[in-house]
Amino acid sequence: MANIVAIVGRPNVGKSTLFNRLTKTRRAIVSSEAGTTRDRQYGRSEWNGREFSVIDTGGWVVNSDDIFEGEINRQVNTAINEADIVLLVVDVREGVTQFDMEVAHLLRQANKPTILAVNKIDTFDEQYGSAEFYKLGLGDPFILSAVNGLGTGELLDEIISRFHPDTEDEPEDELPRFAIVGRPNAGKSSLLNALIGEERTVVTDIAGTTRDSIYTRYNKFGKDFYLVDTAGIRKKAKVTEDLEYYSVVRSIRAIENADVCILMLDATRCFDERGMFCGIAAQDLSIFSIIQKNRKGLVVCVNKWDLIEQKTTADIKQFENNIRERIAPFTDFPIIFTSAVTKQRIFRVMETALHVFENKQRKIPTAKLNERFLPLIENYPPPSNKGKYIKIKYCTQLPDTQVPTFVFFANLPQYVKEPYRRFLENKLREWWDFNGTPVNIFIRPK
Ligand code: GDP
Ligand code: GDP
Repeated sequence: MANIVAIVGRPNVGKSTLFNRLTKTRRAIVSSEAGTTRDRQYGRSEWNGREFSVIDTGGWVVNSDDIFEGEINRQVNTAINEADIVLLVVDVREGVTQFDMEVAHLLRQANKPTILAVNKIDTFDEQYGSAEFYKLGLGDPFILSAVNGLGTGELLDEIISRFHPDTEDEPEDELPRFAIVGRPNAGKSSLLNALIGEERTVVTDIAGTTRDSIYTRYNKFGKDFYLVDTAGIRKKAKVTEDLEYYSVVRSIRAIENADVCILMLDATRCFDERGMFCGIAAQDLSIFSIIQKNRKGLVVCVNKWDLIEQKTTADIKQFENNIRERIAPFTDFPIIFTSAVTKQRIFRVMETALHVFENKQRKIPTAKLNERFLPLIENYPPPSNKGKYIKIKYCTQLPDTQVPTFVFFANLPQYVKEPYRRFLENKLREWWDFNGTPVNIFIRPK
């Protein structure tokens, strides 16, 4: 079950500092450079064995001094609609502002589980300043210093105590779960309709759940799995501005609840007006980044292929390479060219997703692994480090893991560097079929 925490608050109160602390990433620096912005919006966190997602809904408020009501509403509404818990951050040095009052009002009106964090309390002496914030009517304020970490333990304890129990809303069977995700207008609903169509009667809501089920059972042509709905598919956003942003946020829950994600691209948007490939958009990469951070399986589906004119084998190859380049270093995933309108290859998408699901479950017996890897490692050992000879003795796959996880035991694991780890991963992918699934490779002491 996905648990999503959204951080809201005025600019400069310390939202991104807190986001960094919770997601332990140094990359999410305050910067509008491509590549850093996406990390700023979404990250994974863990406390006492509970994992959850953190979204910084303020991440997109560009003009920090100029917040008008519409933006407040949008920021808070995104949090209310998409998150399980809202974390309202305020600044003790600024005191209670009009903005804080308005946000608190919206949150109370929506009856949303909210935690109030009073930030920039860098020493215990400053904690008395937090009393003022009782007037927001959001209960006891949590004192916090996002910069030095004071109060974060208590805050995290509170966050996880408010989560849904792990099992709620989960289908009880082990059927694969797929999510179709992508930017607005890529063709997600068209694909869903082409697959399920009028057969919406096959929709079986899972019994005993309180909220609308997000799982639709697909049971046809000998295939049986769940399609995980994105909120965006059912209730289309009315605001057109920020639609792109919302589509990313809305896909989070679906991705987290899926085993394999079908990332849908609009083929017509991959070319500029001269017909040159101009790549896949930042939003596509944001969605991919969420898929990757959650270690989900991936099938890329290039839709509206009926609208693309030249389609020589070379073009297709070029197209594929361009997509893989953008998503590198992970390149071992299937790409399918579809048309939801002519229904070209739409069932192939489902078959491929099932195949990726199988790959994600794949178990390689230890004897087979060592039979292949030991001679390889013998011939291509890890480069010695500081004159120390590094020996990998054997390897094995761990049981019961989310994604296939392999451990290589070495005398000096700390000296086995990333390039060598990648070399092992590439060989693993060459010898067995892990297409579309992430794998973990750990080097451990022995
Ligand atoms: P955001 O706009 O809400 O995301 O705020 P930022 O995280 O970018 O922080 C704004 C400024 O406040 C930065 O200069 C931070 O270093 C500073 N800041 C954030 N948290 C704290 C804190 O706990 N104590 C102090 N003293 N400064 C903080
Ligand atoms: P969503 O926002 O991702 O759910 O996209 P929709 O399924 O609503 O599709 C957006 C628009 O693209 C609609 O007008 C569809 O008819 C059109 N469309 C979707 N898939 C295809 C396709 O494969 N080929 C063509 N030509 N149009 C498509």
